[in-house]
Amino acid sequence: MFWNQIKECLSRDEMADLQGKRLRKVVELVYHNVPFYRAKMQELDVQPEDINTIEDIGKLPFTTKKDLRDNYPVGLQAVPQEMIVRTHASSGTTGKPTIVGYTRKDLGVWSESVARALTSFGVTRQDLFSVSYGYGLFTGGLGLHYGVEKMGATVIPASTGSTEKHITLMRDLGITGIACTPSYALHLAETMDELGISRDEIKLRVGVFGAEPWTEDMRREIEDRLGLKAYNLYGLSEITGPGVSYECEMQNGSHINEDFFYPELINPETLEKQALGAGELVLTTLLKEGMPLLRYRTRDLTTLDYSRCGCGRTSVRMGRILGRSDDMLIIRGINIFPSQIESVILSMKEFAPQYQIVVDRKGTLDSLLIQVELRPEYFVDDFPAMEKKKKMLIQRLRTVLSITAEVDLLPPGSISRSEGKATHVIDKRNI
Ligand code: ADP
Ligand code: ZN
Repeated sequence: MFWNQIKECLSRDEMADLQGKRLRKVVELVYHNVPFYRAKMQELDVQPEDINTIEDIGKLPFTTKKDLRDNYPVGLQAVPQEMIVRTHASSGTTGKPTIVGYTRKDLGVWSESVARALTSFGVTRQDLFSVSYGYGLFTGGLGLHYGVEKMGATVIPASTGSTEKHITLMRDLGITGIACTPSYALHLAETMDELGISRDEIKLRVGVFGAEPWTEDMRREIEDRLGLKAYNLYGLSEITGPGVSYECEMQNGSHINEDFFYPELINPETLEKQALGAGELVLTTLLKEGMPLLRYRTRDLTTLDYSRCGCGRTSVRMGRILGRSDDMLIIRGINIFPSQIESVILSMKEFAPQYQIVVDRKGTLDSLLIQVELRPEYFVDDFPAMEKKKKMLIQRLRTVLSITAEVDLLPPGSISRSEGKATHVIDKRNI
């Protein structure tokens, strides 16, 4: 099923044509309205007239998170304030939050992106859909909310918190769809267990998960515990919010809404185009008015696949986010992504998907400690048995990571649960 079959299935030539036209316009807009971009383009000796096709994008400057911070709060806004109808902000845990202003047209593009995604996941107007991302400055809640309304399913703005009340509501109303972080989905499943409500008593059939990295093992875990089919939705506030890319029924990568967001893949060290394998995703907003961004370096590491997809969509598919380039841990000189550790943990039936990665430095040597909860049915009062499980986990981690980690096995429920994005990594080396 398609929300917008024409746009989702354009031929590659038609798409490139459309992208080129839109790029030219957005470059004009920022050149004349955003001093930061005019200066950057002048530095590179590029004029808007030099941008005629989408291939010309390589002439344009990159934009980084630092550029957004340097221009805090609204230095990159391209339209007068009266055209801005909503403002969101990123969480700002790593510094000043990023402020993003949307015009009415920007909100239209955003909800269209989400409506395409939901339709691709098989959500229909018959569905009762609970939005359990946090509502507020975070783009997850309102982003999904208006997308669900646009496509015509019934939106239940549950937000996070009040988990027990939410579960009761799911059961009583017969809610069929849900969007939240994968961490919150697990929290829901656990709370259902505590309340003694089984997955057969609720009617969930479609789950939409994103806002943080998650693995295929996590997908199976959530599908099994909530009795639904789980789909991946990706996005980021700077570009628009959730809806930049979405899976289809093939579940073999996420289609990028390429007529709105132009993707490139670069080597984060050399900034050159990455032809093969994983690289950093760079996105250009092709229609945005409020805060258009040229070649924004997302810091998300992924792959791009231009081959034809069985669903009929012609847009490029991005792979799962392997991690943010700034999530990558360098431990004793070895590059490690938290997702690798999650995969190992979930490949063993004894361990729950609740874990923490603690990195520290003792003297000059980095240490890696993985604290992981046992599943209730495997938590026993038998020291030798527990030691054996621990050794097995250490062994498997060593095979995958090429370094030795310490492991702490914890009783079920010891690690605090997250309703939004989970914090899996505690790096004490910078403190
Ligand atoms: P921040 O987390 O920086 O405050 P956002 O709330 O806009 O900003 O989150 C965007 C980031 O969340 C993305 O850049 C990406 O790292 C992560 N993210 C979003 N969706 C997904 C997804 N489906 N899979 C993996 N990571 C995701
Ligand atoms: Zn597809």
